[in-house]
Amino acid sequence: MSQPAPVRAVKGMKDVLWPESYRWEVFVEIFARTVQRAGYGLVLSPLVEEVRLFQRGIGDHSEVVTKEMYELSDRDGRRLALRPEGTAPVVRVFVEHRPTVPWKVWYATPAFRYERPQAGRYREHHQVGVEVIGSDDPDLDVEVVALADSFYKELGLGHVALAVNSMGCGACRAIYVDALRAYLIDHRDELRDEHAQRLDRPLRVLDCKDPACRAVTEKAPRLIDFLDEDCKEHFERFTQGLSALGIEHHLDPRLVRGFDYYTRTTFEFAATELHSAQNAIGGGGRYDALVEQVGGPAEPGIGFAIGIERVLLACDAEGCFEVSPPGLDAFVVDLTGGAAARDICHELRQAGASVDRAFGNRSLRAGLRLAHRSGARAAIIVGADELQAGEVTLRDLRSEGSQERVPRSELARALVALAQRSGEHPRS
Ligand code: AMP
Repeated sequence: MSQPAPVRAVKGMKDVLWPESYRWEVFVEIFARTVQRAGYGLVLSPLVEEVRLFQRGIGDHSEVVTKEMYELSDRDGRRLALRPEGTAPVVRVFVEHRPTVPWKVWYATPAFRYERPQAGRYREHHQVGVEVIGSDDPDLDVEVVALADSFYKELGLGHVALAVNSMGCGACRAIYVDALRAYLIDHRDELRDEHAQRLDRPLRVLDCKDPACRAVTEKAPRLIDFLDEDCKEHFERFTQGLSALGIEHHLDPRLVRGFDYYTRTTFEFAATELHSAQNAIGGGGRYDALVEQVGGPAEPGIGFAIGIERVLLACDAEGCFEVSPPGLDAFVVDLTGGAAARDICHELRQAGASVDRAFGNRSLRAGLRLAHRSGARAAIIVGADELQAGEVTLRDLRSEGSQERVPRSELARALVALAQRSGEHPRS
């Protein structure tokens, strides 16, 4: 009979196995610690939302909504989507529950986008991020950017460039968009076809990485020169704040980012060691009109998202954030075929030690091989002799050969002593 074809992970999506997944654990832990220190609390919300949330939030015409969203219908015919990003869902949560402001939250989430998969670009990727709703104080913009900056530094990343820009408010942006459109119409012939034919949304052209379009937008009018007094002052206070905290940054007048909801401050972190189009490792900005667009009160907001896979690629490129899982305290090799391993594991785990064991009948040699492979500090060997005497043999796997007989009742204490002798602490 022929074997059925194996089922594989969906194109553009990846499995993460131990011990690489341990790096992810630590990554999220460090992020949580960094932002909790600034008063941010974890928010959890469903992975699926109604499609109209993203249409209203990210924008009906954005690439993400028109081309990249994973949409589905439930059995009642509701149109749902797997979240393509983390901000709109958080805003929906705010509108639904109306927590007191300023509301400061963080999240860790998968995000789904039907993009062309390539190195550093997946159809499911993962993000950690923060959002704050309820203040338009530019010091908050500084705080948010400083948190992302501290996080990268905590991971050991040294080659990170921070680009900043202001998208202005609705009023000054409208004037700018007209000026930009007029300029692009004059240079229509030099643009890629897809842009030349659709100049109704000229900001998109600023995002385009095509060299021909870049050459045109290089000399285009700059949004920063069209800011009204309030937006200009807001942006100045933001950049002065960054400088005061020693956070290096540069102005990128073309930084508009792909979502419609941004107003005023936008920023993006690039890993300069990743020489590819996929070197954006995080970004975000203000969205002062989004809460209203989603049906809530007029509350301003700001946030960022950091791509986990991309940051890990950047860490690999820089040779930083190399973490390996802690080894086990002990590994039990039971040669008696009885219940000793079961009971010893349970007792030691209850006492706070990390312990694994071999299953099935094993020789001492095979059992010890497994013990070594597990990375455990010690092997606990139970033979017929030991069983009868109510003892075990405790073998130190780090200083080969040294072993002692220990009464069962003394085992937890002996493990602690062993860990102290080798300068480590057993896990608790
Ligand atoms: P965005 O929501 O587009 O601002 O994305 C936030 C961050 O997520 C980016 O800076 C990237 O690091 C990461 N990211 C976005 N799209 C992808 C993708 N398709 N694959 C991997 N990482 C991504």
